[in-house]
Amino acid sequence: MSAHTTTPPTDDLVDVAVIGAGTMGSMTLWQLAEQPGLSVLGIEQYGPAHSYGAFTGESRLYRAANKEGLIYTEAALTARRLWAELEAASGRRILERIGVLGVGPTGHDALEMTIRTATDNNLPIRVLDATDLRREYPQFHVEDDDMGVLDLLGGGLRPEVAVASALHEAQKHGARVLFDTTVRAIEPGSSPDAPVAIVLDEGGGARSSDTSSGGELRTVYARKVVVTAGSWTAQVLPELNDLVKPILFSLFWFMPRNVDAFAPDRLPGWMRDLGERHAFGVPSLDGYSFKLAPSIAGNEPAETWDALDFDLTREQVREVGRIGALMFPDVDPEPVRWSRHPDSTTADHVPVIDAIHDGRVVVAGGMSGNGFKFAPAYGRIAADLALTGTSTLQQSMFTVESHRARAAARAAGGTVDGADLILQGH
Ligand SMILES: Cc1cc2nc3c(=O)[nH]c(=O)nc-3n(C[C@H](O)[C@H](O)[C@H](O)COP(=O)(O)OP(=O)(O)OC[C@H]3O[C@@H](n4cnc5c(N)ncnc54)[C@H](O)[C@@H]3O)c2cc1C
Repeated sequence: MSAHTTTPPTDDLVDVAVIGAGTMGSMTLWQLAEQPGLSVLGIEQYGPAHSYGAFTGESRLYRAANKEGLIYTEAALTARRLWAELEAASGRRILERIGVLGVGPTGHDALEMTIRTATDNNLPIRVLDATDLRREYPQFHVEDDDMGVLDLLGGGLRPEVAVASALHEAQKHGARVLFDTTVRAIEPGSSPDAPVAIVLDEGGGARSSDTSSGGELRTVYARKVVVTAGSWTAQVLPELNDLVKPILFSLFWFMPRNVDAFAPDRLPGWMRDLGERHAFGVPSLDGYSFKLAPSIAGNEPAETWDALDFDLTREQVREVGRIGALMFPDVDPEPVRWSRHPDSTTADHVPVIDAIHDGRVVVAGGMSGNGFKFAPAYGRIAADLALTGTSTLQQSMFTVESHRARAAARAAGGTVDGADLILQGH
């Protein structure tokens, strides 16, 4: 007999449960908890603002004039407003408003789309030619045909501070969060009115080897469930295994010889396309090194979470050293530290944010290395979908149905809706 067929005891029944209190989960919890009279439960396999998720690593880029396509503009601008609200509520600084500079060959797709997004939405940008770049941003190696686009509303987010702040706000408004508790299964059952059963392992941890409880299981129930499990999405919702895959992204920190030139008052957040190479990063936040995140070979999605390899070969690290020194001639060609973090991805990098199982289960996953900037807006969509079944911020391309249709069109070699607008972001 499956757990949902028993009548849930009132103490164990909540209005909304959020599975995974990382980036999207903390933002969803914060916004749900602000609704009066709603019982809200968060369930997180690790502790608050832990070091295992997609949000770890000191900084994330925020861009308003985004290069991924016009479908993201409303979410980007809503998120910017919500970041400010979270800062005001928590009294903590989350977004360093330092701008983001894209540098690449004149006519590069990403720069053209940034200009188009800014023009269509009246967003402030500056366009720089190679002479401007060399004069104003001598940190970069600049080719004669390079140009730059400075997104004046962009900046660098403090991800750990953001997640911790949203969780504190959620708890302050009455949300309960169970930490070190892993959801082993959810059972929506077939009745559209039944609460969803959630099977908890109170030992916590992603793998059975992390568990200290010896696998004690307990079932709680929720009228609506939001799954914000990041790279673990398909473990909680195996039915999305074909759409949402785990992937690793790598961060490297380099030491410039003149770190003052890499301070936030001299260097904005940045993205660089140079030949075949692409990297992004933020200025020095620790006073001695600055972050550079390159696209590196072997960065494909994995079929399962356990197949992720968190290590790098010496040759991969040396290659990144070469990229760093090529893009920034004043840095030592050896990363001073590096780390790898799991995110979830979809085939065309568009997130999956949708309500499934008769609207009783909402999923926000497949953030594809690009979710942080939008997190409070995506949390708003997830909260709206759980509460009302719709959200004005949701894009039709985010739905499971649309993802499956695009996958089928790709498999058939046909025209795929929106394919021309979508570029990998961060
Ligand atoms: C290295 C790196 C750099 C990036 N740079 C940028 C950037 O510059 N700008 C940008 O906008 N985006 C960036 N991103 C993307 C962005 O950080 C992610 O898309 C976003 O953080 C994903 O959030 P998430 O909530 O899906 O996953 P997470 O933040 O990982 O949250 C998932 C949570 O669910 C919990 N969980 C999972 N399974 C269970 C379970 N069964 N039971 C209980 N809890 C569970 C996990 O422990 C975790 O806390 C980057 C990502 C990485 C990895």
